[in-house]
Amino acid sequence: MSEKIKCLIIGSGPAGYTAAIYAARADLKPVMIAGMEPGGQLMTTTEVDNYPGYPKGIQGPEMMEDFRKQAERFGTVVRYEFVSSVDFSSRPFKVTVNEKETLLAETVIISTGATAKWLEIESEQRLRKISGGVSACAVCDGFFFKGQDVAIVGGGDTAAEEATYLSKLCRKVYMLVRKDFLRASKAMQHRVENTPNIELLYNHETIQVLGETGVNGALIRNAKTKEERKIDITGFFVAIGHQPNTSIFKEQLELDAQGYIKTIPGTTQTSVEGVFASGDVQDKTYRQAVTAAGSGCMAALDAERWLASKGIH
Ligand code: NDP
Repeated sequence: MSEKIKCLIIGSGPAGYTAAIYAARADLKPVMIAGMEPGGQLMTTTEVDNYPGYPKGIQGPEMMEDFRKQAERFGTVVRYEFVSSVDFSSRPFKVTVNEKETLLAETVIISTGATAKWLEIESEQRLRKISGGVSACAVCDGFFFKGQDVAIVGGGDTAAEEATYLSKLCRKVYMLVRKDFLRASKAMQHRVENTPNIELLYNHETIQVLGETGVNGALIRNAKTKEERKIDITGFFVAIGHQPNTSIFKEQLELDAQGYIKTIPGTTQTSVEGVFASGDVQDKTYRQAVTAAGSGCMAALDAERWLASKGIH
């Protein structure tokens, strides 16, 4: 119990860094625990074209580097560690880092984001665990399938974006969509439909990913006709949404049915006074870098006002 921190931020995506910028400028001397994947989901993104202020677009990792520098410029202490447990039952809150050091915090801002989901079929998980050609990140792993044929599952913006990315590296990309329409934005639909080496397979589900030590195909089924067939691929990508990173909070805070942290509408206040949540960990609707950053700002302002209301300076 060595430190007492006015504002402890957990997670280092756009929400966490924006909270840090505002908290540091309000003289809350924030300490950020950056987590297992510093920078969050944007570290595995290529071009970000929809973040205001970057008229030519920017690479995700480069943008997060800018966020970090801006947060540190105002005095945020960034620690490259992970939070193993929290105790919000009394104040100051207790936050254990790397399973050994317990920090004391007057306020906590949770910005731990969300993580990719899997189909959870046996062959997918087996091949994924042995790095046998199954991946949830085209940007990270697409390079390994240069000139080869691959498949990607999903019909949202992530799947569409990753299919487009893969189409530039791979010979052919099968896009397996379980419904008869894409959920992705019109702009992304248009891009996918107009990419000659992407084959859109609507109403298709994956029965098995084939291969012992590496992917050599996938057995797929047309849900309408029930027809099964094998596609020859060496890479299998999954882009079917995300799971909020809230396992360490589930005994401490109110979560919704899907595990997202509940906040009081219009604020970042969680079910425990003095604990705030921002970014994808509490947002299953918008999930954009800019909305995450906006809610990070709100969390820092909420924390500052709460500290002032308690007379903590
Ligand atoms: P979404 O939840 O939007 O889409 C998930 C997709 O995966 C859907 O097509 C869904 O099908 C499908 N799916 C889910 N479970 C399964 C399953 N078990 N088997 C097969 N298919 C499945 O997730 P995304 O990650 O694509 O996007 C998340 C959010 O981030 C969205 O709001 C999106 O707009 C945003 N985003 C924005 C980007 C941008 O603006 N540049 C880039 C990437 C994401 P179904 O439709 O049938 O439910």
